[in-house]
Amino acid sequence: MYEFAVTPAVNQIRRRGVAITDVAVGSIGAELELEPGDRIMRVNGHVVRDYLDFRFQSSGETELIVDVRKHTGEDWELNIERDEAEDFGLSFEQIVPRQCANECLFCFCKGNPETARPSLFVRDEDVRLSFLYGNYTTLTSISEDEMRRVIEQRLSPQYVSVHATDLDVRAYLLGIDRERADISEKLRRMIDAGIEIHAQVVLCPKINDGKILRRTIYDLAKLHPHVRSVAIVPLGLTRYLNDPRLTPVTAEFCRQTIAEVSVIQRDLQTKLGKTFAFLGDEIYLKAGRNVPARKHYGDYPQIEDGIGMVRSFANQFDSLMRTLERKELSDARSPLKPLRGSVMTGTLFAPVLRGMIERLNERPGTRLNIVAVTNDYFGGDVSVAGLLTGGDFLAARDQVRGDFVIIPKVALKSDEPVMLDCLRFDELQAQFKVPIYALDFPSFANVIGNGFVNLLSEAA
Ligand code: SF4
Repeated sequence: MYEFAVTPAVNQIRRRGVAITDVAVGSIGAELELEPGDRIMRVNGHVVRDYLDFRFQSSGETELIVDVRKHTGEDWELNIERDEAEDFGLSFEQIVPRQCANECLFCFCKGNPETARPSLFVRDEDVRLSFLYGNYTTLTSISEDEMRRVIEQRLSPQYVSVHATDLDVRAYLLGIDRERADISEKLRRMIDAGIEIHAQVVLCPKINDGKILRRTIYDLAKLHPHVRSVAIVPLGLTRYLNDPRLTPVTAEFCRQTIAEVSVIQRDLQTKLGKTFAFLGDEIYLKAGRNVPARKHYGDYPQIEDGIGMVRSFANQFDSLMRTLERKELSDARSPLKPLRGSVMTGTLFAPVLRGMIERLNERPGTRLNIVAVTNDYFGGDVSVAGLLTGGDFLAARDQVRGDFVIIPKVALKSDEPVMLDCLRFDELQAQFKVPIYALDFPSFANVIGNGFVNLLSEAA
């Protein structure tokens, strides 16, 4: 499961062609009198199903015949000549995601409260979104048409939830039969066609851990370098996802997993020259261990899946501290602007962040207070910053100190300032006595280095 980032597509039905949503002034699209609401139906005789098709069919073509269904109902055939690099200036509707036909034991969609943001209930299983955004698919219901498209249009890499290479275990976890669970042929076809794969395992204690996990990692390692990496992330239970077949992930389980997997990692490091199988940050934090060093993560192949985010943050923080030291040394007459405020984050990351911020608090005039916000909305063992909701921030208001509050930007929808419980950012702001800023690391570093100058336009 991966939340779809853009709400409108969730509510749309699939129609033929792809709808234009915007036409840039002065562009070829404008010259051709294309308008929002028009649909591109074909390019050079090829059916267009979405904007990926349009890009694929038009890419590099200097002479095109484009069939358009105007919003008025007329059909136009446009003969177009353009320079190779000349853009059409068109924006298109988002892709309507295909949904899965699985019944995964741990599906996060089952763990949502009724009031959660609608997009959280979309069980997307779409190779296009996998290519575009790194969303995971299980490949259990990929159609022949989609498979051909992945290969023909080189939708690489693909992100595949494998969970276990033991078929019985995989079928059990996905809630489907063995035959559908078996994706070995599909993987083989993609690999033979040069498609790269990043795999994922959602680690469920007593189901796909221990020997099953070991086998899964080694089976996938046999497919390296076509399979580029494996992300092992822990099962997350909310108070609504309480299937008795699922066992919560404990600190002890995390320590055991680190011990077992680090042996495999070392072995594969020797054989493949890279870490290959990565444990999610959550596993290290829950175990009370430090995350591995920068070298462990290579080029951070699965950072969007929570693999190496803490290391990356810590390294950026170290670099920020060095910059500040240089700045102070070079210009002792202009000290850092005084900063007194609160930084809210999830209970999992709060102790790590507190350790970092203490270094900043040693500087005169700086007093940043870390507020560890409990996730009461989802409950269970949910403790990451990205799943905090407006209600959770509000419940922790009395711990706020200073002149401002920083919350993690990841708690907001990527394309809209709204939180997972549908509370809007401006509604949250209205209930705090001091300004709130939703920041990612670069903006946070900007605040620390330069105060809040020029930040208001960046913050949500
Ligand atoms: S049922 Fe499984 S594959 Fe489908 S959305 Fe849920 S977790 Fe993903």
